[in-house]
Order: sequence, then structure tokens, then C-alpha cells
Amino acid sequence: MEKIYDLIIIGGGPGGLSAGIYAGRSRLDTLLIEKERAGGQIVTTEDVENYPGAMKDATGPALVDRMVEQAEGFGVKQVIDTVISVNLDNKIKIIKGQKGEYKCKSIIISSGAKPRPMGISGEKEFAGKGISYCATCDAPFFEGFDVYVIGGGDSAVEEAIYISKFARKVTIVHRRDKLRAAKSIQEKAFKNEKIDFMWDTIVEEIKGEGIVEEMILKNKKTGENVVVRANEEDGTFGIFVFIGYIPQTDLFKDVINMDDRGYIITDENMHTNIDGVFAVGDCRVKSLRQVVTACADGAIAATQAEKYIEDNFEE
Ligand code: NAP
Repeated sequence: MEKIYDLIIIGGGPGGLSAGIYAGRSRLDTLLIEKERAGGQIVTTEDVENYPGAMKDATGPALVDRMVEQAEGFGVKQVIDTVISVNLDNKIKIIKGQKGEYKCKSIIISSGAKPRPMGISGEKEFAGKGISYCATCDAPFFEGFDVYVIGGGDSAVEEAIYISKFARKVTIVHRRDKLRAAKSIQEKAFKNEKIDFMWDTIVEEIKGEGIVEEMILKNKKTGENVVVRANEEDGTFGIFVFIGYIPQTDLFKDVINMDDRGYIITDENMHTNIDGVFAVGDCRVKSLRQVVTACADGAIAATQAEKYIEDNFEE
């Protein structure tokens, strides 16, 4: 007989893993589909200081490893696959991945969000050749080099502080004259002697011969261009981009209700407009995108999925 899971969770970030822990504990036959390694964006964070109860110096990867272990302990199966389409028309829902097809009674979408690119000339060409979107992954490559961090939110400022442990100097380039980051994070950055700021400034172009060598910036107030060139001895410098995120919800376009930025609309119990389909974490419309809120969403969605299955499938 073909396998029909009670629940399939798409995406293995903290929201999806929490849903898995709750669903597994409720004895739902649960599969978690993740396209790479579990973790979501939090694995790109070195210091998780605001997740309640996290050990001092807890890293994103360590927190996620423990969540994976907990979900596995409750019997949640995991598969590495990339979902390419979903059919949500019937009571039994079908998910097509690159490796196989999966059927289930309910779905929790936990597809997260990906870093927003600047969309400027040279950005694609030099991604991985001086431009990075992940400090935990790439900051050690810039030990002793100059680094420019683009953005003014929590991510940019927190990651600039982390990168300053490696880089010779970090310059935060922000398009306004005030940071968006939480005050406590700002204070740490202002105190950090290795961190400088370029205010009211946007990046216009990145150039080089196979590696980042030059960045053209523009001061929005004066209209002046500023050119940053690699120090002769270094030959290059780093550019880390943290200007927000884009929800990864393309698969559900025209099927699931979303806002105009592509975030999935749910009610407070994580229900989407389709019965048996829930959304959690950074991919849904919400006021605060944090590990703690993703985990809470996951717990709620899993208990709602259990209720949905009881009401709709059990004789
Ligand atoms: P964010 O809060 O949306 O901030 C994005 C920053 O990039 C803003 O400063 C914005 O400038 C700037 N920006 C946006 N588009 C730009 C463009 N095209 N060119 C130049 N600059 C641009 O994004 P985030 O910092 O990644 O944070 C995302 C969410 O995660 C937030 O809810 C944040 O609170 C949360 N987060 C929390 C923590 C923590 O609590 N420890 C850590 C990381 C992230 P403006 O200020 O002018 O809009």
C-alpha cells in the first residue's frame, strides 16, 4: 500500500523542527523534508543570545543540532530533497520532490526566507569571491583583511560585531543616518574599536579580476561617489550583505494566500487558506521573525495538524 504520512513538514529550520518535536511526541507519522542540512538561517548565526534558556555562547548550529536530535528521538523521519511542486487540491496532499513523491494528510510549510541581494552590477559575479551573505560561514576567510558590511538592521550589526573578531577593520555601510538594529546591539557596535560607519551610503557597483578589488559607493545626501580599493598588499577585501530577507514561498504562489511581498497569510493558529495546510516561521506574515517565535509557531501548527487529522480522517 502506498505510504501516506499524517504530516509532512517542508523545511527544517527552528519552526519546522519544533513542529516535528510536537508532532512526533503526539505520535503523528511525520516526515520532514529539507533541501540541505537542517537548520535554516539560524545556522548562519554564531551567537544566539536571545533564545530563552540557550546556554551561554550557544551557537546557531549547536541549538539546531539539539532540535534535530529531539525530533529524531520522537520518531520524525527526515529526507533530503528539494520540493518542486505541491498538489493541495484533495484531502490527501501530494508533494513532488526531485527525488520522489510524498503523500500526506496535512502539511506544515516552514520554508523560511533567503538573504535579499543588493541587485547591483558585480554582485552575482563576485558572490563567494569576496561577497558573502553568511558571517559564520565566511568571516574566518577575512582574518586580517578589511570588511564592509552592508545594512543597518539586527543582522548587519550583529554580524559586523562577529566579523570584527577576524577582520582588521569592519565598516558598516548603511543607507540612512540611523541604524535599525536593537539599541543593545547598536551600543556594542558603537563601543567596538574595530567598527566604523559610512552613513547615507549605498553600494552601486563591485569590480575586480576574479575577486573583489573595488567597490563604488554613493553618498545619498551629497550625491558624491566614493571608491573603495583593495589595499595593495591584501589584493582584496570582504563585503558582507545583510539587507533583509525574501520569503521562500514561490512553490505556493496562486494556491496559498500571501501578502504582496510573498509572505504566507495565516491565522493565529497557523492555518492557511487551505484546510490541513499550515505555515510557520519566517515565511509567514508576522511582526517578529526570531527563533523563539518560529518555535512557538511550530508547536501551535503541529497541535493544530493533530486536531485536523482527528477531525477529518479518523473513523
Ligand atoms: P531588516 O531588519 O529588514 O533590516 C534590513 C536593513 O537593510 C535595514 O537597515 C535596511 O535599511 C537595509 N536595507 C534594506 N534594503 C536595502 C537595500 N536595497 N540597500 C541597502 N540597504 C538596504 O533585516 P535583518 O537585519 O536581516 O533582520 C531580519 C529580521 O530578523 C528582523 O526582524 C530582525 O529583528 C531579526 N533578527 C533578530 C536578531 C536578534 O534578535 N538577535 C538578529 C538578526 C535578525 P533601512 O533601515 O533604511 O530600512
